[in-house]
Amino acid sequence: MRIVLLGPPGAGKGTQASKIAANLGAKHLATGDILRAEAAAGTTLGKSAKSYMDRGDLVPDKVIIGMIRSRLSDGGGMVLDGFPRTVAQAQALDQELTKAKAPLDLALYLDVDREELVSRLSNRAVCARCSKPFKLDDATERPKDVCDNCGGELQVREDDRPQAVRHRLRVYEEQTLPVLGYYKSSGRVAEVDGVGSTEEVGERLEAAIKQQSPV
Ligand code: AMP
Repeated sequence: MRIVLLGPPGAGKGTQASKIAANLGAKHLATGDILRAEAAAGTTLGKSAKSYMDRGDLVPDKVIIGMIRSRLSDGGGMVLDGFPRTVAQAQALDQELTKAKAPLDLALYLDVDREELVSRLSNRAVCARCSKPFKLDDATERPKDVCDNCGGELQVREDDRPQAVRHRLRVYEEQTLPVLGYYKSSGRVAEVDGVGSTEEVGERLEAAIKQQSPV
């Protein structure tokens, strides 16, 4: 299956997308993770993307579309997370998938209210290596201040600082929310309540995927 996971920053897209991809045996493509890896490696792409990312702005469509095009699987399963973030990106994705005769099956929308998002993002550290998120105020989650998944260093993302969080939410509402309308207009959206434990939200997403593909 080919799925995009939509939702505001802090909705839990990364956590859920990697679980869905593992369950479906599909590729997980997270544009934010790819960009952070490019920035850490100091590539030309990474260097030019970093200033946009640190401010909480979107990296220009041309850059993102070029970056994702080379990574789209050849007709296989995939779960896209953090992409598309603009209607132009969604249209480019449809064009690429149509060319590959492997259209998108489903856009899953994780719905979380603004207050909850601000509280989640301002209380978040992430593993610098595997991107697993941790709650800053819950020391039991990270007993040694290292990632319990891969041993990587936990860091607070530059764009999780309060000013950048507010800006990212504005950018989301102005530029990314229309993507939901784009997929709704072609009847490809399933909306899922994103508030609850990781397991609860995961079960809701799984049910939505099964409904789309009952076999
Ligand atoms: P994320 O990890 O998905 O929250 O992405 C972190 C940052 O990377 C975003 O705030 C943007 O600056 C940039 N980014 C990630 N995906 C995209 C995209 N599809 N289009 C534009 N910018 C992106």
